[in-house]
Amino acid sequence: MQVPAPFDYARAESVEDALALLQRHGPESRVIAGGHSLLPMMKLRLARPEWLIDINDLFELDYLVEDASTVRIGALTRHATLLASDLIARLFPIVTDAEKVIADPIVRNRGTIGGSLCQADPAEDLSTVCEVLRAEVVIRGLDGERVLTMPELHRGPYETAVAQDELLTEIRFPVLPRSGSAYEKVERRVGDWAIAAAGAAITLSPAGTITHAAVGLTSVGLDGHTATRAEELLTGNPPSEELFAEAAQRAAEDCDPVADQRGPVDYKRHLAAELTKRVLRTATARASEG
Ligand SMILES: Cc1cc2nc3c(=O)[nH]c(=O)nc-3n(C[C@H](O)[C@H](O)[C@H](O)COP(=O)(O)OP(=O)(O)OC[C@H]3O[C@@H](n4cnc5c(N)ncnc54)[C@H](O)[C@@H]3O)c2cc1C
Repeated sequence: MQVPAPFDYARAESVEDALALLQRHGPESRVIAGGHSLLPMMKLRLARPEWLIDINDLFELDYLVEDASTVRIGALTRHATLLASDLIARLFPIVTDAEKVIADPIVRNRGTIGGSLCQADPAEDLSTVCEVLRAEVVIRGLDGERVLTMPELHRGPYETAVAQDELLTEIRFPVLPRSGSAYEKVERRVGDWAIAAAGAAITLSPAGTITHAAVGLTSVGLDGHTATRAEELLTGNPPSEELFAEAAQRAAEDCDPVADQRGPVDYKRHLAAELTKRVLRTATARASEG
């Protein structure tokens, strides 16, 4: 099926207008941002919204701002903007690493960080990135706004805490000194979704001990969580190859991949361990330079 079911369309002029339109048109209305997840689902008839509320004119949701200890990103910020940002590359190289391997320029020119997180596809690279960076998200409704952590946002595959009449408006990354981060993905061909991917963030003490560690995996059944046993092992220890290997082993044990056209379970588990080791090395090296 390549043609969506019939739908009506409204173009929001402000965040308040979008929220009012969502409320007016009720449960069968849906926000459209980049459309790179929603439109394919509509063509496959996996989604049949009666109304599309287009938020692409809301430039108030397209920004990257550095505050004292946080970088705030508007939900409508495109993949391409994140990829091109020097601020992001300097503070959160994990985002730049991930953006380089998300889809292709056509998708990256339109797809948004807000759409990626609201889609909540277990293969979405930015979900892992945001979990590893301990991001917070701001959700707005007509009654006000609330701030959620990533585990609070993602309730399961394709399911989030954003209600039908709410908008995800902002993503916040905490800025930690002496920190580094990295992301690596294995895909069947350039621009494809991950067979498996790993992300890590490391913070070092002035003496070089790991004071904070986060490890996340994509597409291997660790959805909505980071690899806590690996993180516990890393925290409080000086970085070493042996430590990374043991942490990687724990992460691979704790994920739960399924066999599919992208590969068997043991191959995906092997990738989870190998990619975790690599991102831990890179994130630690970047933290040492920072
Ligand atoms: C060919 C192709 C390859 C891809 N490869 C990858 C890949 O390798 N890795 C990867 O991570 N992604 C990949 N993607 C997905 C891409 O990153 C999409 O851009 C992203 O998933 C969704 O962003 P969007 O802005 O297009 O969202 P949309 O499709 O517009 O919306 C997705 C969902 O989020 C909701 N939504 C959107 N914005 C908001 C908001 N602000 N508040 C509340 N709800 C909102 C919509 O209602 C909808 O339910 C690929 C997509 C395509 C088409």
